[in-house]
Parts: sequence; C-alpha cells; structure tokens
Amino acid sequence: MADYPLIDVRHLNKIYKNDGVVTQALFDITFQIKHGEFVSIMGPSGSGKSTLMHILGLLDRPSSGEYFFNGHNVNELSDDELANLRNKSIGFVFQAFNLLPRTTVLDNVKLPLLYSKDKRRMEERAKEVLENIGLGHRLYYLSNQISGGEKQRVAIARALVNNPQVIFADEPTGNLDSKSGIQVMQILQALNDKGTTIILVTHETFTAEHAQRIIKIYDGRLVSDEPVVNRRIAKENEFLK
Ligand code: ADP
Repeated sequence: MADYPLIDVRHLNKIYKNDGVVTQALFDITFQIKHGEFVSIMGPSGSGKSTLMHILGLLDRPSSGEYFFNGHNVNELSDDELANLRNKSIGFVFQAFNLLPRTTVLDNVKLPLLYSKDKRRMEERAKEVLENIGLGHRLYYLSNQISGGEKQRVAIARALVNNPQVIFADEPTGNLDSKSGIQVMQILQALNDKGTTIILVTHETFTAEHAQRIIKIYDGRLVSDEPVVNRRIAKENEFLK
C-alpha cells in the first residue's frame, strides 16, 4: 500500500464568482484520507459538501490551496490529465441515480467503458459487476422500469466497473426507502471491507455513522474530524431491534 494518503488537501479555498457576486464556499480546509478508509463528510444544506466533493472528485478545482490525489498534485495537471485520473480512479454515486432512461441496465453500466477497445471484455465486465451486486436478472430491463433501490445498485455497479480506488457517494440513500437504503449501506461497507476507499457525503448523522470517521463542515469550514466510536454496521433488521 502507498505510503502517502489517497487524499491530501491543504488550506483549500473555493470562491465562486457569478456576475460580480462573490461567494466563498470553502475556507482553509485541511485533512488527509488514507487508502482504504471509509469517511463521511457531514454538514447541513449549504455548508459546502457538494463543493468539497466536486473538488475531491476532480470535477472542479480549488481557488487556492493544494490538493494531492494519490500523490498527484492536482494544481499541476491539465484538464485532460485530471479527467483521465478521474475516469481511472474514481466512481461516483449520486442521490438522483443519474442513469440514462430508456437504456438498459447493462448499457448504463457499460457506459464508463465506452472507450475501451475490447468490446467483449467490456460486456463481460459489466455483467460480472451487475451479477455481483445481485442484478444479474435485470440486465436487459430499461433503467426506468426498475425500483429505486435497484436503480441505486445499478449506479453503484456503474461506479465500480472501472475498478476505482475510491467511491464518492453523495446522499446515496436520500431517495430510497429504509430497506433499500440499508442495502446500499451494506454494499458500501462490503466494498470498503475489500479495500475500496469510500467517501460518503450526507447531512444525516445516522447515515454518517456507518463510516469509520466523520469530517464535519459548517459554513464552508471544517469544524470537526473524529473517529466514529460505535460504528453502525448495516443489517437488514436494523430497525427491528
Ligand atoms: P451543500 O452541498 O452542503 O448543500 P454546496 O457546496 O452546494 O453545499 O454550497 C455551498 C455554498 O456555495 C452555498 O452558499 C451555495 O449557494 C454556494 N454555491 C455552490 N455552488 C455554487 C455555484 N456554482 N455558484 C455560486 N455559488 C455556489
């Protein structure tokens, strides 16, 4: 395992400028996340979680400060290099699933492999990931013909198809019933047990406590960074106890 952190941000600031209006969304954020950790980033609406996730996920750049992703200094990478690093290393799961409608489950999961040369291998890989996540019987369903819980599992399969080092999950249970939500948390914990780093963005304490560590932000500032003492392990009967 690498002897440097997967994520290393130092004195990060983010300022948005729109039509002369300046909003500072992040102030002097510094922390590290090691390979293999499961970390929640928690804060109320408007606190800067999405802004931070976009920067950590290499979808946007900081206004100032440093960000080393897996040893790469993000400030020194071109937009193309950043996109390549992102496609190779990072999977995203969003609250709204973001699947292509009227497109099969299998084709949705194949999407990140579009540029791969070996088309047969690509098909096999997408099927394999879907089977592992319990959706082998849904391959040819359209993504708008399956339940919300299944949609989120398709989105997780799509995030996993490139074997990423880290998954960013932004309120992944926000649109789900409690049973499907527990399943999603079970999957994220199982992936983490096998070594994938998970970064979960949420405003809910209950969801955040499934991680090993919680970083709290408020008004764009890091206000605490602590281990979870009684970590929640997602179990089907969690609400029955
Ligand atoms: P959260 O995800 O915690 O709800 P956000 O990161 O979306 O918080 O927003 C943090 C702050 O930055 C808010 O004040 C929001 O209005 C502002 N903000 C977010 N995105 C933009 C943008 N593209 N342009 C201007 N302001 C933005």
